Amino acid sequence: MAEPLRLKAKSASPGIASGPAFLAEEPKAASAPGTAGGYGALEKAIDISIGELERLAEGADAESRDIIDFQIEVLRDPTIAEATGARMQADENVVFAWVATLDAYVDELEAADEEQMRARAIDILDIKNRVLGALAGTPVADFPPGSVFVGKDMEPSRFLAHDWSKGGGIALFAGSTAGHVALLARAKSVPMVVATGRFSATDGDPVGVDGDAGAVILKAGGMLIPPPAPAGDIKTESGELRTADGVPILISININDAAEIDELDPATAGVGLMRSEFSVTSIADAANEERQLAIYRRVLEQAGDKPVIIRMLDIGGDKPLAGLEDLPALEPGLRGIRLLLARPEIARVQARALLRAAVFGKLSVMLPMVTFPDEVDRMRELFREEAEKLGRRALQHRMPPIGMMVEVPSAALMLDTFGSAAFFSFGTNDLTQYLAASTRDGNEADAGKAAPAVLRLIEQAVKLAGGKPVSICGDMAGDPRYLPGLLAAGLRHFSVAPARRPAIRSAMVGLNADGTRAAGE
Ligand code: PEP
Ligand code: MG
Repeated sequence: MAEPLRLKAKSASPGIASGPAFLAEEPKAASAPGTAGGYGALEKAIDISIGELERLAEGADAESRDIIDFQIEVLRDPTIAEATGARMQADENVVFAWVATLDAYVDELEAADEEQMRARAIDILDIKNRVLGALAGTPVADFPPGSVFVGKDMEPSRFLAHDWSKGGGIALFAGSTAGHVALLARAKSVPMVVATGRFSATDGDPVGVDGDAGAVILKAGGMLIPPPAPAGDIKTESGELRTADGVPILISININDAAEIDELDPATAGVGLMRSEFSVTSIADAANEERQLAIYRRVLEQAGDKPVIIRMLDIGGDKPLAGLEDLPALEPGLRGIRLLLARPEIARVQARALLRAAVFGKLSVMLPMVTFPDEVDRMRELFREEAEKLGRRALQHRMPPIGMMVEVPSAALMLDTFGSAAFFSFGTNDLTQYLAASTRDGNEADAGKAAPAVLRLIEQAVKLAGGKPVSICGDMAGDPRYLPGLLAAGLRHFSVAPARRPAIRSAMVGLNADGTRAAGE
């Protein structure tokens, strides 16, 4: 029998997997189905929604049919189309023009004297969201569970929609170990290799992924690699964590979609980072307050009395949001909080969803890529304005503490000037990139060399934090090699991908709080 072919690759997520190959088509340029193309896209989404409502009406009782008929009538109402069109002419994006038009209608109904009219507001909110759902489009096709995804690159939404509980792995011809799918794969313990170079395989061919050594193994009649041993049950960890000399340490988890909240166990302090950009993946999602509220609420309710830090959308730059390119007048390279402040319509929807979600748990909000103190001030003001609006509409809400990522070197150096930030969390992925004049993809080559500079910067910044809560949620927190340096810098709260907890816990107990090795280690 022919020897299996072993191709060298880069390990992006450890572990061994094998299964039938699923050959992916090249990912298309990020664009929300239907959000490009202006009013035509909206018309299509409205048609889809009318079709859905007509189907619903078929089996409905007389009372429900009345409501549905009213909704269809509104969707067909030319004045709604005209108002949306007028907003678009004033340079608003089609999705936000739709949201603003319907919100204005809702406001009008809510202010009506007659009870019957006020009760109609919810029907309009319902169709607003139905059309947003249609604008977001259908998710990319899934692939069979247990297979090895082979392709040039992979979209984060595709990773998130897939059922990885049946095993399987990822082998990318290109890709990056610091890319977002790699980050997701490490968080979910899905073996993954990148930079395999293009190789030929047929759908269904057995393929192996060696995420430990960094290799992809091809065709050798039958099983290539023994099936992976069942993963250790990290949920059996329990008890409070201390360094060898008895200093308490908090371990939180980073989550990338709401379902990962299942990973929160009694030994975990809470969620130190929820990257909301993995749950809000298109302009239509970004405009959908109710959808976002449902996602954040689920996470907060499941976390119970444990704190949850949800980061506002870190979009732009290397983090796409489908349909973002259709928004007018965005400076190139704008990312994170600066993009949110430049496009406040996106920030306002998210702020309202977060303010409303805050009543369901212990929420803190974190701002991404903050560079200057006034960015925090301006976002806090935006939250205050939205809270006032919610108050006027008698919607329950609560103002959460608002803190910031420390992932831009100038912010780290000037941390004492960020008076209005309630807490800080170090993002070493971007901090390394910007400190070492690298790229996120190049981090891997430079991360080791840049680490001493990053650690020195963190140590200085911790001293400037003025006693406010400080944590770290970048990948360095989940790498035992950097623990001594991070402890020595004064960090006591580490937020890591769920799969990294066991490694960090076992490394922590062998170290003193000043980062030195404990006696006998
Ligand atoms: C970071 O930059 O370290 C971080 C945690 O944010 P992200 O990886 O999402 O950019
Ligand atoms: Mg970052």
